[in-house]
Amino acid sequence: MATRSFWSKLRLVLLTLLLVIVSLNTWLSRVRTTDWQEPLWVVIYPINADQRSDTQLYIDGLAEDHFDDIERFIDREASRYGIELDKPIEVYLSKPLMGRPPRPPENPSILDSVIWSLHLRYWSWKYDNWEGVTPDIRVYLRLYSPQNNQVLEHSLGLQKGMIGVVNGFASVDYQAQNNFVTVHEVLHTLGASDKYDFSNNQPHWPDGYADPYQVPLLPQYRAEVMGGRVPQDRYHSLIPTSLDQVVVGEKTAVEINWRPDFE
Ligand SMILES: [Zn+2]
Repeated sequence: MATRSFWSKLRLVLLTLLLVIVSLNTWLSRVRTTDWQEPLWVVIYPINADQRSDTQLYIDGLAEDHFDDIERFIDREASRYGIELDKPIEVYLSKPLMGRPPRPPENPSILDSVIWSLHLRYWSWKYDNWEGVTPDIRVYLRLYSPQNNQVLEHSLGLQKGMIGVVNGFASVDYQAQNNFVTVHEVLHTLGASDKYDFSNNQPHWPDGYADPYQVPLLPQYRAEVMGGRVPQDRYHSLIPTSLDQVVVGEKTAVEINWRPDFE
């Protein structure tokens, strides 16, 4: 009996220690990634999600400069908020990755979400094929052929673990949109929250609007990055066609530490 209680105590101590280390690590990476003193390295891992040959053809032709507008967007928006760093985010392209990231559970309990998040972090560590310096943020870009009429699953960005999973179409026509979704998820990993209504995808006013005090208010001509769409009227919004049509709003800027919270 005495031995058993010794082992269960030891197990408890080890588990607690593990949790403290993981939490401390998460906290440290949060502080380091949002102090904007050095460029953040974002590595994109393309994945052929539908195993089609046309998807593969597109992936084989991908180059780092397909993602340049992500860097330009962050650069432009950061400098609007007074971030002096030359290139706040550097985007790199890894080799295509085999395998698929674990799916998020449907209607998860808190425990399910914690377990899935740990599983995703483990998967990401195990299958990493990037050969450069350790990335700050990893984005798994799951590409599907646009010929398949597939409804894409929701993309996601996890702040704990700094991982984004982006679903997109394997076509140059969709590259700008894929880049927009990538930016949205990258900003989630840095602490930004969604600013739209999940039931109908309409951006929240004022924080999800690019120009919340424009007169007349609608239609808007740009999207707030975490609002996700350009509101046309009370019930309709459009997905921005490129990052030129997108801004980082003030609330998002506070969340990612680009400006202090004046409220
Ligand atoms: Zn989101």
